[in-house]
Amino acid sequence: MDEKHVVVTGGAGFLGSHLCERLLQQGHQVTCLDNFLTGSPGNVAHLLDDPAFTCTRTDLTEFVHVPGPVDLVLHFASPASPIDYLRLPIQTLKVGAIGTWHALGLAKEKGARILLASTSEVYGDPQVHPQPESYWGHVNPIGPRGVYDEAKRYAEALTTAYRTSEGLDTAIVRIFNTYGPRMRPSDGRAIPTFIRQALAGEPLTVAGDGSQTRSVCHVDDTVSGILGLAFSTHPGPVNIGNPDERSVLRIAEDVVAATGSRSAIEFIDRPVDDPAVRRPDTTLAEQLLGWKPQVDWEEGLRSTVAWFREALDPERPAALQ
Ligand code: NAD
Repeated sequence: MDEKHVVVTGGAGFLGSHLCERLLQQGHQVTCLDNFLTGSPGNVAHLLDDPAFTCTRTDLTEFVHVPGPVDLVLHFASPASPIDYLRLPIQTLKVGAIGTWHALGLAKEKGARILLASTSEVYGDPQVHPQPESYWGHVNPIGPRGVYDEAKRYAEALTTAYRTSEGLDTAIVRIFNTYGPRMRPSDGRAIPTFIRQALAGEPLTVAGDGSQTRSVCHVDDTVSGILGLAFSTHPGPVNIGNPDERSVLRIAEDVVAATGSRSAIEFIDRPVDDPAVRRPDTTLAEQLLGWKPQVDWEEGLRSTVAWFREALDPERPAALQ
């Protein structure tokens, strides 16, 4: 693959930092733009010695400037976990709208391809299961999750408008729940919450009766799928996620087993508009990109637990700065 200059917005976040790392491993030049709203410089600290890597504090909703030619923009800047977007509703809508507009403007100025990180949340609480890309979704625009879901739906519409009216080379990836190292232990998503609780010997708090389902994909697989689409010519939208669906209760039980914890399971109220089921139809990703998740759940969970164990070690607080 030819060496490219890739701009990753939100590159100091969970997914963004893994993308920067993989792109550098593949020999590309990488510019990370991030305002560290929900990400952290610590996530990319290990990359700073690489001369092919630059990280600049930039708020995408204010302006964006990158010197020199750019081949590809990966637009990942946005609060992503429910705890973050409920705490930052206006910032979430602004980065989805104005931030996406600026990212598209950068791609247009540079003649670059741009990939928008969209989400399975555009399907809302789905009435079609599993969800193919052709499904229009079931979203409550004025519900608490609406700020994230509608920001991403707007971002998809804006990206599509630039493609059809400006001829911009665009791609949309709809990412389903992803887990792995560098998730924040307190970001409110089920897997880091369960691992943190299990390692602390606290009860694992399962929402509702735990029968609602999630399909979780290891970050190594998600990154391979995203880059597969980014370096193709397909516009998408393409679902990237693991169709291996399990109940939230089963995920909690697996975390207890993987950590060797004696924690009990405690049932708490379900959040408003929490989707009952979620599973990607990945036929398109398989057909277009030859992509399928490879990481086995037990193995992925084991290595994620190992990372959290180290990151939460009070002797090594720097890991989570
Ligand atoms: P994250 O919060 O770890 O990363 C988001 C990054 O964007 C952070 O580093 C944050 O500081 C940065 N950011 C936010 N607002 C910004 C702004 N105005 N200007 C510049 N930077 C800004 O979240 P993540 O889980 O890595 O998600 C990254 C992207 O992938 C998001 O767009 C999210 O919607 C999408 N996504 C993630 C998942 C998942 O399972 N993690 C699933 C679906 C979609």
